[in-house]
Amino acid sequence: MNDLIKKLFENKTLNNEEFLDILSSNKYDEELKKLANIRREEYYGKDVYIRGLIEFSNYCKNNCLYCGIRAGNSKANRYRLNTEDILDCCEEGYKLGFRTFVLQGGEDPYFSDDIFLEIISKIRSSFPDCAITLSLGERDYKSFKDFFDAGANRYLLRHETANESHFNKIHPNNLSLEKRKNCILQLKEIGYQVGSGFMVGSPYQKLEYLIEDLRFLEILQPDMIGIGPFLSHKDTPFKNFENGSMCLTLKLISILRLMFPYSLIPSTTALGTINPEGRELGLKAGANVVMPNLSPSNVRNKYELYDNKIYSGSEAAESIELLTKLIEKSGFKVSVNRGDVKRTTL
Ligand code: SAH
Repeated sequence: MNDLIKKLFENKTLNNEEFLDILSSNKYDEELKKLANIRREEYYGKDVYIRGLIEFSNYCKNNCLYCGIRAGNSKANRYRLNTEDILDCCEEGYKLGFRTFVLQGGEDPYFSDDIFLEIISKIRSSFPDCAITLSLGERDYKSFKDFFDAGANRYLLRHETANESHFNKIHPNNLSLEKRKNCILQLKEIGYQVGSGFMVGSPYQKLEYLIEDLRFLEILQPDMIGIGPFLSHKDTPFKNFENGSMCLTLKLISILRLMFPYSLIPSTTALGTINPEGRELGLKAGANVVMPNLSPSNVRNKYELYDNKIYSGSEAAESIELLTKLIEKSGFKVSVNRGDVKRTTL
């Protein structure tokens, strides 16, 4: 076996030069995948966890240059769900077997702390055996704490890129990497299971920046790590940039599994969008979570972060049987439990 890959497997880290060697060559891919699967199996067996994703609003006050629901996109067809709609989604999801609900949306000022507190408390009391995951963007410490106290368990907030000048090139002036990192650290301190992550192949990204992403995650030791290829959206300033690479994304999933064997890593919608087999390949590379879309069907095509975002077939929560078959065909099995992070081996 290749010494470098063996070293990563055993030490869970490498120096920058070694990481760069792996990232810039594809000769390691098969071995990386094989060892990533050994690690995944030690912690999670063959289990793949499913999360019901509720995209509750595509209004956003931010103007991230890559994102299709950015405030400046006047062509976006905006919608927001109310408390009742969201509870209906959970009800539907519960019947389908989901035990984690992920509330994700743009940073929509309509959703005050009080409104979120009402939503979280109602989900908590109606579905006491389910995990509530929030992905609401940046908020202040008190909001994060109040949401946690009301019953939220997990929070997803990607750092997007850990290189400061790169962060500033793909975000508007009012957002900063420092603030983003602070939010993520606060969430951890409060007691959430925390997810972070980054886009692969976003405009101006260099391979060296990806190593900075890995270093930031080493400090954070996140419970969940979400990555996906950057995909361009026709009504954003980045419309003419090339999409990120599926192969590099898959390689990074394997690297992340070796660095953070205990972590929950989704095979993301972006991966399923860039290639029809992307999600299965993500699982085979070391991912162990999928997040089918549980939003009401009439809004699904409106949460358009990038062009051609998939929302039907096995991506749709109601097609869970189709997804289960795909997962089984890839050699895994769907787990119906909450799927909390496991910090120790089986
Ligand atoms: N407002 C929430 C949810 C954002 S959408 C938050 O800030 O956390 C979830 C993720 O989609 C983002 O973190 C980003 O990494 C990803 N995303 C947005 N636009 C994208 C694009 N054009 N290509 C690929 N991923 C994108």
